[in-house]
Amino acid sequence: MLRIRREKITYRFSPDLKPVAEVSPGEIIEVETHDCFTGQLKSEEDLISEVDFSRVNPATGPVAVKGARPGDLLVVDIENIALGDRGFMVTIPGEGAFGSRFSSPTTKVIPVDKTKFQFNPSLSFPIRPMIGVIGVATEKKAVPCGEIGDHGGNMDATVITEGSRLYFLVRKEGGLLALGDVHAGMGDGEVVICGVEIPALVRLKLGLVKAPDYKPLRPVVELKDSFITIGHGPSLDKAAQQALDDMIDLVVNKTGMEIAEAAMLLSAVGDLKVCQIVDPQKTARVEMPRIVLGDSNASLWKAKF
Ligand code: CA
Ligand code: ZN
Repeated sequence: MLRIRREKITYRFSPDLKPVAEVSPGEIIEVETHDCFTGQLKSEEDLISEVDFSRVNPATGPVAVKGARPGDLLVVDIENIALGDRGFMVTIPGEGAFGSRFSSPTTKVIPVDKTKFQFNPSLSFPIRPMIGVIGVATEKKAVPCGEIGDHGGNMDATVITEGSRLYFLVRKEGGLLALGDVHAGMGDGEVVICGVEIPALVRLKLGLVKAPDYKPLRPVVELKDSFITIGHGPSLDKAAQQALDDMIDLVVNKTGMEIAEAAMLLSAVGDLKVCQIVDPQKTARVEMPRIVLGDSNASLWKAKF
């Protein structure tokens, strides 16, 4: 199995990314990811104030998929996320929901094993691995991996996890997928500005949808029982509106429902949730039960592997 090493990183999604590997649809690969600090924090004595911010939020890759052309959908099945043995959390004065209450930065090391993370000596929680940063090459301008755009990027959505399928609209030949910023756990909101930041080994299967019947501008996530749109914007309201607009367009296109019917359906069974509120661009998502597609096993698009 092809393994992409964590030395092969990019700090931005851009139109001119050069692939570090090329794979065929159906190929399964392993991707090593750094933590979001690129390993610069090594102990609780290492503070965020000493970190080189030009080396934060790396994404491993990009990987090109053979045959991916602009207008196709790149399909990413996240098969497994194996976590490192310790994660880091930080507080930063002036950042996050409580930034005004901190006078100095702090760092916390969190031991992680196969099933749980040890938040402190008396509190441990089941791991909930997720990928914070994942995206494809942008069409026009370069976007740092710490930011969000229509190509994906730093979405920080807890639904991007083992068993998720993601669809990305391809902007550039090969699609050019890169990912990083794995968390051993993160609450919706990511309120202090980080999850349990950790290096990881992610196993993915890559596929394509050629000439999709409907092209979502932004990433769409499929879970076993639901499908999800993720919106972003300078406020939580704007992020929510974008996720809602994306979802109603998707439902109308996939089911042929009238707009009023689809709107009521969203209001009846769609869950609007917060992804993160701590970056300049906030992210929110809408989760819809997969059964609204008429068949709970149906995928939104038929992928070629
Ligand atoms: Ca993140
Ligand atoms: Zn992170």
